[in-house]
Parts: sequence; C-alpha cells; structure tokens
Amino acid sequence: MIKKVLVANRGEIAVRIIRSCRELGLPTVAVYSDADRKAMHVLYADEACHIGPSPSIESYLNIENIIGAARKSGADAIHPGYGFLSENPVFSERCSREGIIFIGPSSHAISTMGDKITARKTMTAAGVPVVPGTDECITSEEEALSVIDQIGLPVMIKASAGGGGKGMRLVQKATEVKSALRAARSEAKTAFGNDAVFIEKYIESPHHIEFQILADGHGNAVHLFERECSVQRRHQKIVEETPSPILTPERRRQMGDTAVAAARAVNYQGAGTIEFIVDSQLNYYFLEMNTRLQVEHPITERVVGVDLVKEQIHIANGLPLTLKQELLEQNGHAIECRVYAEDPANNFMPAPGRVTHIDIPYGVGVRVDGSIYEGFEIPLFYDPLIAKLIVWGKDRKEALERTRRALQEFKIAGVKNNLKFLERIVNAPGFVLGDYTTHFIEENKEALLKDDPCDSDCEDIVIITAFMEYIRLMEKASPGEMTALKNNWKNYSRIRSVLKL
Ligand code: ADP
Repeated sequence: MIKKVLVANRGEIAVRIIRSCRELGLPTVAVYSDADRKAMHVLYADEACHIGPSPSIESYLNIENIIGAARKSGADAIHPGYGFLSENPVFSERCSREGIIFIGPSSHAISTMGDKITARKTMTAAGVPVVPGTDECITSEEEALSVIDQIGLPVMIKASAGGGGKGMRLVQKATEVKSALRAARSEAKTAFGNDAVFIEKYIESPHHIEFQILADGHGNAVHLFERECSVQRRHQKIVEETPSPILTPERRRQMGDTAVAAARAVNYQGAGTIEFIVDSQLNYYFLEMNTRLQVEHPITERVVGVDLVKEQIHIANGLPLTLKQELLEQNGHAIECRVYAEDPANNFMPAPGRVTHIDIPYGVGVRVDGSIYEGFEIPLFYDPLIAKLIVWGKDRKEALERTRRALQEFKIAGVKNNLKFLERIVNAPGFVLGDYTTHFIEENKEALLKDDPCDSDCEDIVIITAFMEYIRLMEKASPGEMTALKNNWKNYSRIRSVLKL
C-alpha cells in the first residue's frame, strides 16, 4: 500500500492531487523549481523538495532530480499529474525499476497510445473506428498525394508524437500539400524531437467528445461518460461540459462501450481518456488516448460523483475497482472554464506577472481548482493556466446561469487574464443553445474578442464610487462595524491600486 506520495507537477493540478491524498491520510511531497519557491503547491504539501532551476527541462522534466527527491523524502509513489512527465514511458519505467509506484499506466500502454500511428494501428486491430487515413509515416509529397487520392480532400497532416495541437496542418488543395507537409514535420521535430507525420481525413464541423475510463489490474474497466470539449482555441480546449448537448443515449452507450474496448486493447490500468472526433451525423472516430488525468476531469467528478485521483491511487495500490458500470449515472450538468493568465486580444499571449488581487467565487455548485493567491508572481516558464472554474447545476440551464454568476464574481487584478473572454463565451448564442463545433471560437472571433476599451475605465469608475460609499459608511460605523466593513471589503487592494493609495 502506498504510504507517501510525491507529486511530480506544479500549479492547480499539484494542489488538487495533494487535496485527495490528504483526505486519504497520505503524506505528500511537493517538488519545485527556483521560480516556484513560493508556489501554492509548495505551501500546501506536507514536505517540499527543490528540483532545479526554473526552465522545466531542468526541473519538472528532469527525471534524475525527481527520482532523487522521491528517494530523499522517502516517497514510495509518484503522481505525475498532467503534462510534464505524465506521458513519458521512460519515466514510468524508471519508477518501476526504482521500486516506486507510478500512479498511472504501464510504460507499454503509454508508448502505444502516445504514438498516434501505433495507436491508430492498435485501435483498428481492436475494431475501434479511426478517422479514415494512413497508418504509415508520410515523408514525401507523392506519398501524401496518393493517400489523398484514396480519401479525398480536405485532410489533416498530423504529427505522430503530437500533443497540444502542435504539428498539425489542414490541407484543402493539392497545391498546399508540399508546404503543409514541410511545416508539420518541422514543427513536430522542434516540439517533439520526432518528425513522423501521417494523414487523416479532415472531419468538417466536428465535435470533440471524449470518454473518461478507469481500469484496474484485475480485468475490470468502466467508462464515466463523456465530456464535450469542442470550445477550442488553436486546437486547445478552453470550456468543457458534460453531458454533451448533442449525444443521444444510444450513441453515448455505443461510444462508452467503444472507449472501454479501446482501453482493454492495451491492457490499460488507471484513469485515461479516449478522445473521439464526431461528425454532424454523430459518426464517431478514435482521435487519441490520453494516458493520464485530464485538465477537465473535475466535470466528470461532479456529475458522476467520484474522486478520480482517489480512484487512481486505489488502482495503483493493486485493488479492484469498486465502481460498476450499471450503477454509474450522470447526475445534472457541469461546465468547466479554464482561467488563463493570457491576453485573448493579443493572440492569447501568455501574460505572467504579479497577482495584486483575486476574488474567488463561492456558493452553491461552484468549485475552483486554483493555484494563485494575492502577491503570487505567475512565472513565465510554464503553462499560463492559473485556475479552473467548475460549476454544477441540476440541468444545463442552471449550470449555465450559475457559471455566468460565478464568472461575474471572479476577479483577478495585476495580470491580464481571459475572464471576460470566458464570460462572452458562456453568453454567446451558439454556446447557450448547445449548438457549437470545434470552429466556435474562430466563427465568433469578432464578438468574443471585441476590444472593449471602456472595460477597465468603467471598472475603475465603479470602484471609485464604491470607495466613496465605503468612506461614508466607515465614518458612521462603530469600531466593531468598522472591522466587519474592512473584512467584507473584497476589492480593497484593487481600490488601493486604482486610487494609488
Ligand atoms: P493533439 O494531440 O495535438 O491535441 P488531437 O489529435 O487530439 O491533437 O486533435 C486536437 C484537435 O484538433 C481536435 O480536438 C480537433 O479540434 C482537431 N482535429 C484533429 N484531427 C482532426 C480531424 N481529422 N478533422 C478535424 N479536426 C481535427
């Protein structure tokens, strides 16, 4: 049985994992780089080990230093979170050689699913539908054109080692093949050190719908239904919801069964996600498997009523799943909004800096998984995801209304962020109707990204007016009331910064 968990990650996911460990009574060890000395996961864990300089390649991706930290702290298990080393088969293998439990699947499952060409072949052999295309690596324009002859245009050229939407090019005309092939290969080489690419039919106006699965070492596997992840910018998710507004019960059941079959085909153990691309007729095709916890896992937790991190630990302890497929159901509706320190108006450029003020929303049905606090310096070295707002409602309408309310309450000052952009998404007619595809942001760019110079000025005027009211109340207040007023004055530090006090 696991006795102490080292969390080989940072930010909101490290905090989230530590929370479940704490509920299980498991001591935790955080790891941190120079830039993260004062990060929330470091403050929150029972112990913390420094693992190197700020660039991730020298710290969060440094296998030797992380294994060293586990040895030093006596951790007998490592949870990799997502990103960083979570899908690195060498790391998973190294943990087992060191006698450390890797809270995740075997290195075989990671490498089979981590390479998109191998995954396509494995899935085809298991009878899982894949997007029409090639299972071979394409190196020349001639090879590409001959595949296109068979499947027709448009197509996607995709990196076999791909992730994060990198190394992917859309080809609509035969004359674009040469340059798209060159661009995809060179981007893949730079991002993944591997320039293998393949070709898939481009699915027009698709949905990205993924299924959460859990599988143990005793032959049991279940799915925990879907997450609709079609709101994407640059092929990366930004708002997710469950249930999907477009799935019928019948198609949901079929896709769930297919997801379980896909996991079984690689003897999967742990939590994983089978991603599908779905066309307008609800035909679905395997896109890839993510052999780890997903950023958007909390919406599944909320609607299905499980703690996925605890399930991962349970499975890593070699215990059989206690969940039964026939007893699992979706209860209500959940929406996740990813809060980034970035500038949507400036091509979503990351915007690191010091957080001078934060108001986190609370109340019925609201969960915030975050990692920032007032005074925290968001480092420029890592992904700018700083918090996730997860909202539950008894149905989609209530979840949507509650998300809007929570986003209105959410305030972050000091760094540029996408809160306003998220608010516009959840108010956009297409989103409200549940009628959107992966092109939603691109198609609504103007409305979602409209420059609103008035925003910050208006906000300042509201703050100044509120401040005058505050002074008026303070003048009349008794000492007890004054303390209460001060404590309740949520925007106090923001007011100070606006008024330069
Ligand atoms: P990555 O591993 O880089 O995230 P995926 O294969 O998961 O790449 O695809 C990411 C996104 O790119 C999908 O959610 C979808 O929006 C788009 N996409 C990928 N393949 C196709 C395709 N064949 N047709 C249309 N869109 C696609």
